[in-house]
Amino acid sequence: MTNQSPGELYIVATPIGNLEDITQRALNTLKNTDFIAAEDTRHSAKLLQYFNITTPMIAYHEHSDIKRLQKICQLLAEGRSVALISDAGTPLISDPGFQLVKTVREQGINVVPIPGVCAMVAALSVAGLPSDRFVFEGFMPAKKNARCQYLQGLLREERTLIFYESSHRILASISDMRDILGSDRGAVIARELTKTFETVLEGDLQSLVDKLTADSNQQRGEFVVMVGGYKKADEFASITDSVSHMMTILLEELPIKKAAAMCAKLTGLNKRDLYQWALEQKDK
Ligand code: SAM
Repeated sequence: MTNQSPGELYIVATPIGNLEDITQRALNTLKNTDFIAAEDTRHSAKLLQYFNITTPMIAYHEHSDIKRLQKICQLLAEGRSVALISDAGTPLISDPGFQLVKTVREQGINVVPIPGVCAMVAALSVAGLPSDRFVFEGFMPAKKNARCQYLQGLLREERTLIFYESSHRILASISDMRDILGSDRGAVIARELTKTFETVLEGDLQSLVDKLTADSNQQRGEFVVMVGGYKKADEFASITDSVSHMMTILLEELPIKKAAAMCAKLTGLNKRDLYQWALEQKDK
């Protein structure tokens, strides 16, 4: 590779839709490196063809075996340079590459980032949700039960939550978020970023379920879902003295779940909030 130290692994970000988002440095690296390790060589061939890049490709994907990893390490050890790309965005971010980078670094070989697009960063930059602290959760479990359990574990997370989601599960996932995190929790769905049908929907989780249900086109494409963090200060704002009195009496006669349900019926308050409140009183 001309003008660059040999034997380095470059982690190169590629566009997530709009090809103009590739950086000049990424193009130079892909042109000048000895090999490009790609998640899907057929998919990446289109990108390389578009930019007239003829560098030979080798496959490196999630299911690549140890031999493939060793082959790349061997190339690097021999002084060849290799650029890792994924189908879209930044490799390793919900994409293959972690094991390769770990192994290559352990061997004392330099790993160089060639930064660029990442869907979650692009989405967060336009969401209007707190971005000083956030948690990237990647893809949630595909099965409903596992997903609900997973969301339960995030119920009291105060930082902005960021998820990746596919068209197959977007409605089911947003519905589960509504049920577990609360219908009034604010969220933003960023769809098809940098592409023709780019859409950013915002609202509380119930209104987002309604929007997706009303227009099935909103369920198509690729999604970043961002949910506002849990607000501790507002936690039990709705539990006034009279509600707390009512709950205390109900709890003398009923288990927590039933007491919360009964109180919710009588006051119109959220059953989940009442349940959580009762749990906290028990722990005091
Ligand atoms: N490595 C990529 C990155 O840096 O963002 C992510 C790869 S992950 C396999 C693919 C997921 O990223 C999609 O299912 C979707 O959740 C999100 N994604 C990718 N491109 C997107 C786009 N143009 N708009 C919204 N979300 C996108």
